[in-house]
Formats: sequence, C-alpha cells, structure tokens
Amino acid sequence: MRTLVRLLGVSCLLSASLGAQSADPRLDSLKTEVTRAIDARAKLAQQMVDQVFSFGELGMQETETSKYLTGILERNGFTVERGVAGMPTAWVARWGSGSPVIALGSDIDGIPQANQTPGMASRAGLVSGAPGHGEGHNSGVPLNILAALAVKNVMVREKIRGTLVLWPGVAEEQVAGKAFLVRAGIFKDVDANLFAHVSYEFGISWGDEPALALISAIFRFKGQSAHAAAAPWRGQSALDAVMQMANAWEFHREHMELSQRSHYVITDGGDQPNVVPSTAAIWFFFRERDPERVTKMLADAKQIARAAATATFTTLDTVQIIGSAWRPHFNKPIAEAMHANAMRVGMPAWDEKDQAMARGVQRMLSWPDSGLQTKVPPLRSPEEAAKASSGTGSDDIGDVTWTVPSVTLYYPANIPGTPGHNWADAIAMATPIAHKGVIAGAKVQALTVLDLLLKPTLVSDAKRYFTDVQTKTVKYQPLMAPSDQPATWLNAERMAKYRGEMRKYYYDPARYESYLQQLGITYPAIPAVMP
Ligand SMILES: [Zn+2]
Repeated sequence: MRTLVRLLGVSCLLSASLGAQSADPRLDSLKTEVTRAIDARAKLAQQMVDQVFSFGELGMQETETSKYLTGILERNGFTVERGVAGMPTAWVARWGSGSPVIALGSDIDGIPQANQTPGMASRAGLVSGAPGHGEGHNSGVPLNILAALAVKNVMVREKIRGTLVLWPGVAEEQVAGKAFLVRAGIFKDVDANLFAHVSYEFGISWGDEPALALISAIFRFKGQSAHAAAAPWRGQSALDAVMQMANAWEFHREHMELSQRSHYVITDGGDQPNVVPSTAAIWFFFRERDPERVTKMLADAKQIARAAATATFTTLDTVQIIGSAWRPHFNKPIAEAMHANAMRVGMPAWDEKDQAMARGVQRMLSWPDSGLQTKVPPLRSPEEAAKASSGTGSDDIGDVTWTVPSVTLYYPANIPGTPGHNWADAIAMATPIAHKGVIAGAKVQALTVLDLLLKPTLVSDAKRYFTDVQTKTVKYQPLMAPSDQPATWLNAERMAKYRGEMRKYYYDPARYESYLQQLGITYPAIPAVMP
C-alpha cells in the first residue's frame, strides 16, 4: 500500500555509524556469523523470491504463496497454525521457547493487472490482464525466513532462549488483514515486532510515520429491476444511488480538511443497460490523519449514502467494513538498534547489470536515470521522515505498531522512481536487484533479532518507550466493529479467472537456475529504443 517518496539527499552518515559495532564481543561475533550464514543461503533467497513472484496472488487468495512459505518453515522446525483470525491464507509460524518473543512480519499479496516479465524494461505481461507483484510483496517473508533460519541455528547452538514468530500480511493492498490479526490476539505475547517492507533504500524511522489512518468500506444499494425502455417507471436504479453518493461526496470534498484523501471505485454498476440495476455497490477508501478524523469521514459517508438512497427511492442495503488502519508509530529504541545494524550491513553490492537495469527502467519512466541507491540514509526522526515522504499512504501495520513495540524495515530491493502499484514496480522483483536486496535486508533483520535476544535492556527500553511515550495518552481502539469479519471473498473471482494461465508460468527451481532463465530473459533486457 505504501510507496515512500523519499527525495532527501544522503548526508551525515557518521554519527549513526558509531553505533554499528557492538560493545559485547560475543554478540559481535554472532552477528558476523549470522551475516555469513545469510550470504551462504543466497540460493534459497533467490528461489523463494522468484517462486512467490511467479504466484502473483491477490489479497485473501494467497493460497499457493502461503502453502509454499509455511512448507519451508515447517521443514525447518517451525510449528505452523493456518487459517488464523478467520482468514484462510493467514498463518502463524512459531519456533523456540520462552521470552523474548520476537515477531517477524511482511506482506504477501499482489496488485491487479501488474503481471509483468521480470528483468525487462518494457511492458511485457506474461498473462495479459493478470495480477502480479507490482508492489514487491513477494520479497518480505522470504527475507524474514532467511533471517529466522540463520538466527535459529545460533540460538540452538548457543542455547539462547526466545521465541521466533513469523506471520504474513494478508490482503495488505485492501488493508484488510492486520487489524483482524490484532483482534485475534496474534501479538498478545509478543515483546517486539519487526516488519519488513520493500523499498529502494534502507528506510528506518521512529515515531509517527508520515501516513494516514484509513477505513475501507463498501456501500451496497438495493433497487428494483425493470425493462429500462419498456417500463423504466417500474424500476428503481441502485446505480443511481451509487452515482448520487459519489457526486454528493465530491461536493462534500470542498468542505473537508486538506489532509484527507478519499477515493472510490464502483464494484457493481448493474448488469446491462436495458435492465434497471437492482443492485449496485461503491467501494471507498477514507484516509485522514488520525482515527477520530477517519471515523468522522465514515459517519459523513453513511449520512450521504442514506441521503442518496432517499433521493433515488432505493435503499442502502449494507455498509461493509473491508479493512482499517491506524497511522503507524515506530519504536525508537528498536529503530536505533536496527539502523545501527543497517550501517553495519551496508548496501547490496550492485553490479553494472543491476545499475543498467535500474537506469533502463528509469528512462522508460521518464525519471532521472540515477540508478540504484548506494548509501544507507540516516535514521529518521518523525520530522525528517515527514520531510522525506508525501505522508498520504496508509498501511495496516499501524494497528500492530499500537499493539506491540514495532519497527518497519524498508529494504533496498527495487528501483528508485517507479510509480508504485504498477507493473513497472514488478520488473526488478525477480532479478538480482531483489535477490541482493532481500539478503541485505535479512541481515539487518537478523542482527536486530540478535540484539533483542542478547540485550535485555533493548526489550525493556522498547517496552518503556511503548508505554511511557507512545501510548501514554493514546490508546489503541480498533476502527472496525466487533461484528466486522474479514472479507475472505476479496479477489476470488479475479484470481479464478487468471490462475489457470498463471500456473503455466510458476517458477520451477528443479529445472531452472532462476526465474529469468526459465523465461529466457537475458538480464537486463532493455530495448534499444525506448517507447
Ligand atoms: Zn506494500
């Protein structure tokens, strides 16, 4: 959901690098060992990233993805609980015992119509119109698995107490999963949560994230069908109600605060023109700075919906909450530890092919062809993060961050300048750019887990920040009602339409070294003449 637009120059790296070396020699040597162990799993990184990329599944329909990822975890000794929080594709994988309990999460869903041949700087869908990983959500859980497996081995040998909990962000693109995971108590015994999200750089910040709270809701109207030419006076058009609601919302927009973002699509506009639509539906995303304001937006929309029904002699049938998100707030002590680890790990070693791929994509997008990032930016305070981001996106990790001390690790596995939620964002996501970025991100994640396991003060400092600073005056309240349930039907029809064709392109690691090889792509494939 979030595409960070971070345009700040990179500067003043020195102060942060002082924290990169651990004072504890044992911890320091374990960090070196875990870093090497993750490098040694480069093949697994490539396989997982490519495999999930090839599934390209949309929210709530991530069946192949979840089956594949939980299979790897089970083979490595994790206990997996499936179908958690009423979502068939959600799961929790646990290993270890006792505290601290450290959760590692990342999203797994794709984007409609983003199906794209990787490694190719031109529009080339494998299956026309099909979904794909035009957000890069194929890379985050593989990153967490790499980190967890490396740390687990050290924990066994060194007899380090602690529990690792891996979990997926289901249907993040509809912000339809995480609040339900919170409500189901997935995080109730968790001491710290490290989330991972793809970016083009290491982005680590603390405090209020520049983002908006969000409520996603579908308004369904009911009318009466009739022959649209022979007897229109006997019909009541539910589509009229939808259009009245959208129109009234546009007038209302003039009187809303500038911080709001709201947008909608008509998901049911009737069947065909000569039948007066007896049902119609409009799906809104409402975004505002805080939960109170976004709740007010929903209340306003309900009033407008009732008025639209009255004006069209139809009825407002249901208002279904599809998802919701608080604005994220990241934990300062954990963010500081994570940033020191990012300084220690450094950026991936991009080669000329990676840079050529990036510049090719940037030129295709008429974006400055600066190539891939090569420096780790400084840790961002809330003020610096606000300067670096438009702050108008949303992410349902927000609800988790208000439940347990959390930080999101943005890791460099994609190309700067892509538009987000777009096929162009999929180009790099099954190439060495993504593979290297995931390995670098996994190291940062793993080293931060080691910090949490071996520096008890970090866990207590994180808790203190959470209780004494973050939640001192603000208490988490879900934006959905207790009766709201996960929209598990989301994307089912669309996925059913394309899955058969997409299956032909699933990655076969037994036969091919990489997905690029399977598809016959010479990396990087950049047209001589840009369209
Ligand atoms: Zn995302």
